[in-house]
Amino acid sequence: MQRILIVEDEPDIALGLQLDLRDEGYEVETVCDGETASRRGREAVWDLIVLDVMLPRRDGFEVCRDLRRAKVRTPILMLTAKAQDAEKVMGLDLGADDYVTKPFSPRELRARIRALLRRAAPEGEAVRRIGDCEIDFARAELRRGGERTDLTAIELKMLEVFLQTAGRVVTRKQVIDEVWGSGVFVTDRVVDTHVVKLRRKMEADPAQPRHIVSVRGIGYRCEE
Ligand code: CA
Repeated sequence: MQRILIVEDEPDIALGLQLDLRDEGYEVETVCDGETASRRGREAVWDLIVLDVMLPRRDGFEVCRDLRRAKVRTPILMLTAKAQDAEKVMGLDLGADDYVTKPFSPRELRARIRALLRRAAPEGEAVRRIGDCEIDFARAELRRGGERTDLTAIELKMLEVFLQTAGRVVTRKQVIDEVWGSGVFVTDRVVDTHVVKLRRKMEADPAQPRHIVSVRGIGYRCEE
């Protein structure tokens, strides 16, 4: 299921968006101020962020900048109150991907969201690269220096999380939530065991990993 973070402080609009996008089959979380948005945008893995401009504490422009500085690459769709805001979104190098001007029609917004999600995950891009490894998601295999290794479903999901958060620290808890789901009991040790197996497949020297790096006391960081 694709996950969308909605950042909107007007309760009616937030609720409308939430119901509408849930109906469309997305998993949705709503936050209503800029500070929380910056934090949630960083600490969880999202497929898309819908970000209002006028927000309490930090405005949408600042949130967008925060997230891009923190290397969050999630597509961001800005909700702007007026045409000048839209100019700002597109004119400044904020890192937003698209904007919709308020008042918007739910139908238009849904179409923009679908387009952004498609752009972010084009179907032809089933092969991703980390260092000298090619990860073929469609064939569930990893190719490295002419060798092919099979990848398990768990390993594929973990790699997806690592690629989505590349360059940033991801906690074991985040990995568990993304790979197994938040309602499932999985210990940190299980995550570590799978990482060890992945490193054996990916790393030139699994004891000195260069791509799935341990961050002491927190989790991991993927370096492409
Ligand atoms: Ca607002």
